[in-house]
Amino acid sequence: MRDATVYLHFPWCLEKCPYCDFVSYKVDRPAIAHEAYADAVLAELEARVSTLGDSLASRRFISIFVGGGTPSLWASESLGRVLEALRSRLHFIDDPEVTVECNPSSLSEGHARDLRAIGVNRLSVGVQSLDDEDLKYLGRLHDGAGAMNALRAAQTAGFKRVSGDLIYALPVHSAEASLPMAGQLLDLGLTHVSAYQLTIEPGTRFGELAKRGRLPMADEGTSAEAFLALDSYMEGRGLRHYEVSNFAVPGQESVHNTGYWRGLEYLALGCGAYGFWRMEGPGEPAWGVRYLNEKLPESYMQLARTMRDGTGFTAETTGHSTTASTERLDGETLVKERIMLGLRMADGFHVEASEADLLVPVRTPERQRSADKLEQRGRLCAEGERWLVPKSRWLFVDGTAAELF
Ligand code: SF4
Repeated sequence: MRDATVYLHFPWCLEKCPYCDFVSYKVDRPAIAHEAYADAVLAELEARVSTLGDSLASRRFISIFVGGGTPSLWASESLGRVLEALRSRLHFIDDPEVTVECNPSSLSEGHARDLRAIGVNRLSVGVQSLDDEDLKYLGRLHDGAGAMNALRAAQTAGFKRVSGDLIYALPVHSAEASLPMAGQLLDLGLTHVSAYQLTIEPGTRFGELAKRGRLPMADEGTSAEAFLALDSYMEGRGLRHYEVSNFAVPGQESVHNTGYWRGLEYLALGCGAYGFWRMEGPGEPAWGVRYLNEKLPESYMQLARTMRDGTGFTAETTGHSTTASTERLDGETLVKERIMLGLRMADGFHVEASEADLLVPVRTPERQRSADKLEQRGRLCAEGERWLVPKSRWLFVDGTAAELF
């Protein structure tokens, strides 16, 4: 039985951060359609169960990740209905990882207790910084004290697995600026930290400012120093730098995200969610489909209502569904994606394991020649069946992967 994961997207936030290009829409708290959205997701789940049929039934689900947007705004009763339906419709391992992304401004001890009661066992909290000036610059609704209070509330409510997100190398920062903040998170007992560089995406407010040359940016040298400083600090505190942007106490790595980096399938539900499913028959070379759901919440909910009410539009009879677009991924594309994501991990990319799983050649003579050249240039190490990127070269991992395409 092949392992798979579930991704569930919640599309609303109380404010739109100026750097954010996720599918998220500003909403006033009273206007959130808690129940209607849960109904829509449940309708989509039923449609996917009927469309994917046996292939869904033959997967062993190992995790659920509720991302957004700000899923901590979603009433726990509504989210609880969805989690319950997932558990009853899919085959899960005992005690799967169930993570909810939270913003400090919508995470109280009471809410954390409610989340535990519906089976959530891990929280990923968007701290981003503990410095009030940074948080203002990032357009966040919380301050440093609010972030620490939210993390403490999660722990007091009984969460043993709490992850904190940090953004490092902000414009006015020195390379070491994020270390005391990371230290505060670890002093609190967090067992997982995700640390990202601020990326400027087109179409965001920061993207517009950058285009007009009005956004101060950290220089590349400082960003690289900050990355290496965080690496040695976190490892010194006993966390493993297990993926380019992620650190964990050994054993506390994110099961769900590791699934992405290993190329597992993910059943995605919710407005604007991306899913990936393999479609080959037994013994055939792998191929799959990536789908993207309708991005506008109202349209998504309307489509789901139409399917649920059985007014003639079902995914099976007409092809009409919440899916906005699909992309066919052939075996070679799947190999490239696995290389790109696998090389981001400290454990690297498993060449033979991927060949055995996908039934698609990975170690072709041409790719092996490229790997040899990369190894000579110190950008890749071959260790048994694995290809690894040395940590000092992690910042250039995308370029390295591209040379293996
Ligand atoms: S809270 Fe997160 S999802 Fe919402 S706008 Fe900010 S960065 Fe985007």
